[in-house]
Amino acid sequence: MAQSKIYKNFIGGEWVESRSGQTFENVNPADTRDIVGIFPASSKADVDDAVESAKAAAEKWRLTPPPKRAEILFRAGEILTERKEDYARDMTREMGKVLKETRGDVQEAIDTAFYMAGEGRRLYGVTTTSELQNKFAMCVRVPIGVVGMIAPWNFPMAIPSWKLFPALVCGNTCVIKPAEDTPLSTLNLVRALVEAGLPKGVVNIVTGFGPDAGAPIVNHPDTRAISFTGSSEVGRIVGEVAARSFKPCSLEMGGKNAIIVLDDANVDLAVEGAVWGAFGTTGQRCTAASRMLVQKGVYNEFVSKFVERSSRLKVGNGIDESVEMGPQINQQQIETSARYVELGRNDGAKLLLGGNRLTSGDHARGHFFEPTIFGDGNYKMRIALEEIFGPVVTVVPIGSFDEAIEVANSTPYGLSSSIYTRDVNKAFKAVRDIYAGITYVNAPTIGAEVHLPFGGVKSTGNGHREGGIGAIDFFSQWKSVYVDYSDKLQRAQIDTE
Ligand code: ADP
Repeated sequence: MAQSKIYKNFIGGEWVESRSGQTFENVNPADTRDIVGIFPASSKADVDDAVESAKAAAEKWRLTPPPKRAEILFRAGEILTERKEDYARDMTREMGKVLKETRGDVQEAIDTAFYMAGEGRRLYGVTTTSELQNKFAMCVRVPIGVVGMIAPWNFPMAIPSWKLFPALVCGNTCVIKPAEDTPLSTLNLVRALVEAGLPKGVVNIVTGFGPDAGAPIVNHPDTRAISFTGSSEVGRIVGEVAARSFKPCSLEMGGKNAIIVLDDANVDLAVEGAVWGAFGTTGQRCTAASRMLVQKGVYNEFVSKFVERSSRLKVGNGIDESVEMGPQINQQQIETSARYVELGRNDGAKLLLGGNRLTSGDHARGHFFEPTIFGDGNYKMRIALEEIFGPVVTVVPIGSFDEAIEVANSTPYGLSSSIYTRDVNKAFKAVRDIYAGITYVNAPTIGAEVHLPFGGVKSTGNGHREGGIGAIDFFSQWKSVYVDYSDKLQRAQIDTE
């Protein structure tokens, strides 16, 4: 077993312990005897230091030309490419998802680095007309200042990269707190940025728990915007606190995403997508497919193939290349899955596969749960309404296309969605009528690419988007500029003759 290392916060260009000296253990969810590392349990004092250093660095970074900022991001992308395998292995060890997926997570950070590096020579604004003669009008993007970021554990490098890279290219300085279950991958990302030449203080990382190290970032009067990804419950608190001081706040939260399978679908393709959508990342994605809405003509065929394929999934330590589904992140998530299995049973859904924690043999030391499928679900059951964030999925029989859309829209969330059909009319109607931030046609609910906006509606988000130009919109502010070259006072709306 590899030895556990001691890690530090990164503040003002230095690796430092928490002021209190308190630490916490980062544990491998596939084998809880394996301590991945010891990390600072930070508190308000550490956040104060980090914000102070971000504030001190802000002026110089703001004035660094965007193409120069972008060169650093590009180099960070190259460093991440060189280290992809090591960082993926670190991530599997701390987070549990299988190597194929952690390589994908690092790749997403690489893609974001290169994409946002390109933005250094764009960051497009707008030039427009003026209602007055000899007057020029334009809108330019300006930085916000110090931005606070709070990240979840399920994409511990990709999601921080969605936040850091656009924020940096826009000229902001940053304080980021990774999730307490996965600080190492975010730290690896910051390390790549530092080695790429990022000046001192431009990015600061404080590790620790939400109320101790996350809340002070949101509360701090000098963090001028907050970017949060996590549960809707915590997102509500973060949003309320940020609103009190009128801080822009991007909230990216839960989902209860449906795959619709119509009678005319390619059922084998839909089953393949359902297995990947439901059990990829052990169901711990905000875009995970946790509801299958299957039209009655193909219901039996879909269910039997879905159960059969899922029953063959190899569950284990993700570091083994042959494993297809890793552990859940921690004991609490296991308990949530078990609780929803109980709820599903009590609500009258039919347990078709799994339902139990795996506790023997290779699974004895980790947080493993069986791929679990309920059949005969309906849209009123809690298993079909609430986010579970585990490998527990409900299949709901559906009568018609219209009913499928209605049920798809029936949860409090609206992140991702999917429809399998060969009918182009129905596909386009679904794209139009499903109330969600993302819709896939003939592909599962997961698989976002970095240059498209990512986010959702209702309890999933508050209107902002990560990824693509949506991220640039959040991490910059518009400034409108009027240049009058008439050499006289011209009054808008008045001197119009
Ligand atoms: P999950 O259920 O996926 O762990 P959470 O919403 O609990 O999601 O956590 C997401 C992130 O929010 C983590 O980094 C966590 O430490 C942080 N967090 C938790 N509580 C708070 C809080 N009160 N204020 C700020 N951040 C918090």
